[in-house]
Amino acid sequence: MSTKYIFITGGVTSSLGKGIICASLGRLLVARGLRVTIQKLDPYINVDPGTMNPYEHGEVYVTEDGAETDLDLGHYERFLDVKTSQENNVTTGRVYNDVITKERQGTYLGKTVQVIPHITDEIKSHILNLGESGDYDVVITEIGGTVGDIESLPYIEAVRQLRYDVGRKNTLSVHLTLVPYLSAARELKTKPTQHSVKTLSESGLQPDIIVARSEHPLDRSIRKKIAQFCNVEMEDVIASLDAPTIYQVPLLMQEEGLDRRVIEKLQLEAGEPDLERWKGFVEAVRNPSSEIKIALVGKYVEHHDAYKSIVEAFIHSGAVNDCKVKIKWIHSDEVDQENVEEKLGDVSGILVAPGFGGRGIEGKLVAVNYARTKKIPFFGICLGMQCAVIEYARNVCDWKDAGSTEFDASTEYPIIDLMEEQKEIEDKGGTMRLGLYDCSIKKDTNTYRAYGKELVQERHRHRYEVNNNLRYKLVEHGMQLVGFNPDRDLVEIIEIEDHPWFVGVQFHPEYHSTVNNPQPLFVDFVKASLDHAQKNDLAVPVNGKKVAVS
Ligand code: GLN
Repeated sequence: MSTKYIFITGGVTSSLGKGIICASLGRLLVARGLRVTIQKLDPYINVDPGTMNPYEHGEVYVTEDGAETDLDLGHYERFLDVKTSQENNVTTGRVYNDVITKERQGTYLGKTVQVIPHITDEIKSHILNLGESGDYDVVITEIGGTVGDIESLPYIEAVRQLRYDVGRKNTLSVHLTLVPYLSAARELKTKPTQHSVKTLSESGLQPDIIVARSEHPLDRSIRKKIAQFCNVEMEDVIASLDAPTIYQVPLLMQEEGLDRRVIEKLQLEAGEPDLERWKGFVEAVRNPSSEIKIALVGKYVEHHDAYKSIVEAFIHSGAVNDCKVKIKWIHSDEVDQENVEEKLGDVSGILVAPGFGGRGIEGKLVAVNYARTKKIPFFGICLGMQCAVIEYARNVCDWKDAGSTEFDASTEYPIIDLMEEQKEIEDKGGTMRLGLYDCSIKKDTNTYRAYGKELVQERHRHRYEVNNNLRYKLVEHGMQLVGFNPDRDLVEIIEIEDHPWFVGVQFHPEYHSTVNNPQPLFVDFVKASLDHAQKNDLAVPVNGKKVAVS
């Protein structure tokens, strides 16, 4: 069977949930036994989102091979349980960068280098690279942005050409649009969809399937209208209504027949979907026995997308523990010694988030101190772990001036310091310690009990590390350094004694959490938090009511 290509474009407006539709279709195809990957083409000029402000772009998702990518790749991995790589996220910046580099190297043999064919060829080669790897039956390519945007044009053109290059029967075009409800007219309106499909068609791309996002069910007459005006059959109009959790979307898409139509049109050889486990997960998410509150202390908390993988990891690990984790968003700028009790007194666990720069650090240190001294389960991730180390150095080791050279170059005790190989680096993009590294774990620790093994691999994104010249002081005062990178002797995990659960990790465990494989440290942290909640009367019974999940 030759590889099939599915292209997903979006129209009318952004934020329709194209990434979730791609991930849901991917999950349905995987559930039918197909090998699937999803790729995102982003029309912005940044080479990758690594240098973008989280307010602007949300989380940067790091792949195992160390690519800094769009957060939609996180959805792809969480839904499909298939690893992504640099090839799964390509931006206009990267495409142009590569084309210009080739031009400088003389690759184009004196030709005038143009959008068509050079840029479009480069885009096509990124799509085909995945297809030709032989690893997948289906490559789903999500085109970022909205049809009609100037930036999207080269992508649409590349897809138009590719449909002929690989044969029409091997490709499918799916268009996601909005069908708004006008309350004054009490009607769903199809005109924006018609216009969007018209714009797409003007670029030579006729959709085969239309997925219509709507807040109200689409009746027969609306489906008929969309079909008629947009040149598709009625069964190729798929309604996508708001769902209580994104994890229900694959099930809703299956009810609407999206995967069936894709299979038929692409003549894929595939079995019936096995969604039992997925349904069990959705049921566990929607029907937990109790609810607990866990604080997420960070500096971008107004923008929940900045912590997307953490939020999702809590949903996965909550389901395993039969509880809903309600995140209490705490702005690290706003925590101080005076108000910490008021802010954190009612939570059963405290997670101090990753981040960069000095803003909000003092608040994070107060939160760590509160978790440590009040014996509330604590999970520090990357910068959160570094804060746990600084807090310990200051308050237990009595190095009052201890800090990180990231935000205090003149600290007397740089207990967190720039990694040696980072000292020469000046460029900002793609230069951190990125991707998968080994970590060996000491036995008889909370971390070992969570993982159940001595060697794990987790993903990284940082420039600073526990200072190996000063770490003796932490050990002298009882901090447990329990995880190390075996090749470089870097501290990867810390714990403390006489505390129910206090773990800090230099890596990002959240990137590894998927529906089918919730990340072990998250599962154990939620378990410890649930224990804490139960002992302190902080768990709220849910009483069989379905809960809303973002
Ligand atoms: N800013 C810290 C570093 O670069 C932590 C990074 C992070 O939290 N991802 O080491």
